[in-house]
Amino acid sequence: MSAVIWVSPSIIMRPDPMPGHAPRSRFGQGKKGGGRDRATAVTPQTARAFSGKPWRSCPTGAARMNSPRLTGDALRAIRHRGSHLQIIACAGSGKTEVVAQRIADFFTEGVEPAAVVAFTFTDRAAQSLKRRVEQRVAERLGEAFLGKMNGCFIGTIHSYCFHLLQTYVARYDNFDVLDEHELTAFLMRVHRTIQLKAIDGQLFSSLKAFTRNLQVVENEAIETSQLQEPFGDILERFHEELESHKFLTFGQVITKAVEALDDPRVFTAVHDPLRHLVVDEYQDINPAQEALIARLATSPVHVCVVGDDDQAIYQWRGSDVGNIVGFAGRYPNVASFAITVNRRSRPAIIKTANRFAKSIEGRLEKEMRTHRDAGDIEVNCWRLSTEEEEAKRIAGTIAALAVKGFRYRDIAVLVRSSASYERLLAAFAAHKIPVQPGGRAGLFREADAQLFGRTFAYLAGYGWRPTTYAVEEPGTLDDLVRAYGDRFALKGARRKRVYARLERWRLEAQDATGPADLVGDYYALLGDCGVSSWDLRDGCAIARLGTIARCSGILVDFERTHRRPRLDPDVPGQVIGGQDRGEWYFRWLAIYIQNWALGEWEGFDGEEAFTMDAVDLTTIHKAKGLEWPVVFVPGLTARRFPPQATGKPMTWLVPEQLFNKARYEGSLNDERRLFYVAMTRARDWLSLSTHDRPNTQKVPPSPFIRDVAEKMSGYCEAISLPSVANAGNDESDILSVTVSELAEFKICGLAYRLRRLIGFQPPLAPELGYGKAVHHILRNVAEYTRQHKEAPDSRWIEDLFDEEFYLPAASKPAHRQMRDGARRLVDRYVTSHGEDLKRTWAVERPFELHLDNVVVAGRADVILGEEGGSHGALVVVDYKTATDNGQHVDRQLQIYVDAGRREGLDIRAAYVHDLHAGARIAIDVAPDQIKAAEAEVLSVAARLRARDCPPSPGVVCRTCDVRAMCRHAS
Ligand code: SF4
Repeated sequence: MSAVIWVSPSIIMRPDPMPGHAPRSRFGQGKKGGGRDRATAVTPQTARAFSGKPWRSCPTGAARMNSPRLTGDALRAIRHRGSHLQIIACAGSGKTEVVAQRIADFFTEGVEPAAVVAFTFTDRAAQSLKRRVEQRVAERLGEAFLGKMNGCFIGTIHSYCFHLLQTYVARYDNFDVLDEHELTAFLMRVHRTIQLKAIDGQLFSSLKAFTRNLQVVENEAIETSQLQEPFGDILERFHEELESHKFLTFGQVITKAVEALDDPRVFTAVHDPLRHLVVDEYQDINPAQEALIARLATSPVHVCVVGDDDQAIYQWRGSDVGNIVGFAGRYPNVASFAITVNRRSRPAIIKTANRFAKSIEGRLEKEMRTHRDAGDIEVNCWRLSTEEEEAKRIAGTIAALAVKGFRYRDIAVLVRSSASYERLLAAFAAHKIPVQPGGRAGLFREADAQLFGRTFAYLAGYGWRPTTYAVEEPGTLDDLVRAYGDRFALKGARRKRVYARLERWRLEAQDATGPADLVGDYYALLGDCGVSSWDLRDGCAIARLGTIARCSGILVDFERTHRRPRLDPDVPGQVIGGQDRGEWYFRWLAIYIQNWALGEWEGFDGEEAFTMDAVDLTTIHKAKGLEWPVVFVPGLTARRFPPQATGKPMTWLVPEQLFNKARYEGSLNDERRLFYVAMTRARDWLSLSTHDRPNTQKVPPSPFIRDVAEKMSGYCEAISLPSVANAGNDESDILSVTVSELAEFKICGLAYRLRRLIGFQPPLAPELGYGKAVHHILRNVAEYTRQHKEAPDSRWIEDLFDEEFYLPAASKPAHRQMRDGARRLVDRYVTSHGEDLKRTWAVERPFELHLDNVVVAGRADVILGEEGGSHGALVVVDYKTATDNGQHVDRQLQIYVDAGRREGLDIRAAYVHDLHAGARIAIDVAPDQIKAAEAEVLSVAARLRARDCPPSPGVVCRTCDVRAMCRHAS
């Protein structure tokens, strides 16, 4: 059976995180679908009906409760209609507010929500924009209108493209996307098959070269036929491996979405409803993304690009600042506005940044203007003798700020290089300052992560190298237990338990007869170490837990790629299982962790979604789009900023005539922009510092801090603290949760906190994805039935199972067993509910319920039409498969029904369909039950806001994956 491409206006893009990334939420949650739902079209009339007041066409600046009054170019940018639009938005100029008001005004003018698509650079930025849009829409059209906004998409380009593929190209429905960590782990797994070492004979240098060049191919949308040997062949084999394991890379998500738009049916379905495309952070768009934007921004669609060339900091990852600089020359009829009032920072910070920006070559001419009043000393530029002294002064200053009332999370320490981490972390530890080092390199600066690495090196029989230039430690059991003893204060029986567990685990690691349980065993070890007794009110303890939890993520990344089966090319419907046990499994894992720890793969590695009250210690690249009241930028030496390797020629496998390699090799100008970005993250107070000696050798200060110091008449002697404790930069009180998170919280608040807020990953179960696989099959069956007006025959379903039934963590026998079980469920469903298949109105339908400052997102398995023979009457159905626990599904369905009714859908009923029993259980969706569900949502939201996550010990503890970290387990 060939791949099915299908277009269905009622199959709506999914609202949840990218599969496989939850709960780490690299793409966040609650994205809205981009497909048009004709049943929910919004007209000026419906807008009026929902506003509760007379609707009128967009008099911007009309009565609003909280919208700031914007003037000048900001107001003109909001009001402009009828052509493409370029908004040059300086740092802190409130572009989110401008974009939010512009989008909200579209709706007041009667533009349908499905006609608006807004791309943001990160998921965090998407959440921020969504919240702001919701506030402005509520002010203009009333809270009730929020329920009508389901078709509007606000999210990253990657999530948009992935949803586009999953919606309109059915074969991608059960694909997962590899993030950068997983890509590395996957390459390690398949390196022999793709002959990766043909690049230079060494595995890791070949791997680095391959991934660097792969990015170029994907960013620049280069045809693989243009590539030379050996890279071209390796890439081809790599693509085959991705396909058979049902993986996509990040870059492929974009290129394949652009390819999908070549199909006129897909293009029509995506483009027809679209009228307004907004692209935030346009300066960091790469050529492949620009190809997508250009494809979508054809008449009658108008694109509004928002960005600042001074903040283009991802050229080394493929973005092209030329996109924004040359926008007006590439698109016809472009109106341009510049928003230059910086509403974020104090005047002295703006003045310092403005002066520095003049040194950036080839920039669009502009200057930030001030908005806020001056504070006391706002910029401190200082220099100490050694790096250690510098770190101690920063830690001491942070401690003093905490005493003044600043929260730790109001403070960021932004570094150019992870080399700065070591001394800073030591100084923070001495002052008991909770900190979360960001990025992959930052993690292994933490002692707990080092111990984690040593543990898996020991299990594999390897030594451990703490840093690139350190001598490898042999890693005996005695040494390891001693290290655990020191780190976790282990004594007596506990120490013996740890010894026995590690000894046993090492033996099991060599035993290939049973599957390994990496995460489960790691948690059991933590239990032996007494982690459950840690005080969760202590910020340092929580920050330590956060570090340990991130380590669990490394295990899951590895498992997800190594256990994943591939389709058996010789036996249709069967898979060849991945590796999940034995000596080499642990060896590869140890190699993977070692290379992770040594920072072999530097870069932007996604967003950390876990929030805690800790100082943000992170690279400047990861600080993009963020702001803090207090910002330290330390380590400004001539070697670190700009790094010595800046602009150094690299060897490329992609022919150099196919791309501009200078972008990828970096330049002094790029570094200047990065420094500018670092400074403009500060709201109230900025510290720029350097040291003369990182070790025994003297190094001059960075030319950047020299520039600043010269204009400030030299370095200051002492640091002046801000006098106002301007703590609290949370921009909105609106809480976004998913229905599954609500259900999880209800089962146990503490388990929710450990998983969702601190970051402990659940172990990978073989049955993972079973429900999704069944839904995928049923989706195809439903679509066939709708197209052909009858259910498919048995042969067609068998072929469908052969091609499309796929479980990402199951071994070959487990896959076969679950496939057979799923086949029986689907057969029974088709036999007993064939008529329902004809009534399928939508599958995987996203809903968002907007209550008082809470948004609950989720998606219903299926919606049937013609309920009770009545045209337009709908029923929501949730499929229950063997792996669903079925808990709290009543509330879940009530939330969908509530959200759907607020959209204007005529939802009459809701059922849980137990596929095993072949029975339907009706859920009460009477108004009083809907009210009860809403009250429950508000109650959980109040607790979540207060970080009140109580334990609920009981029978659930028996299967709780985080029980090792819980003192309440029963
Ligand atoms: S062990 Fe029980 S009480 Fe503890 S987190 Fe898990 S479910 Fe909650």
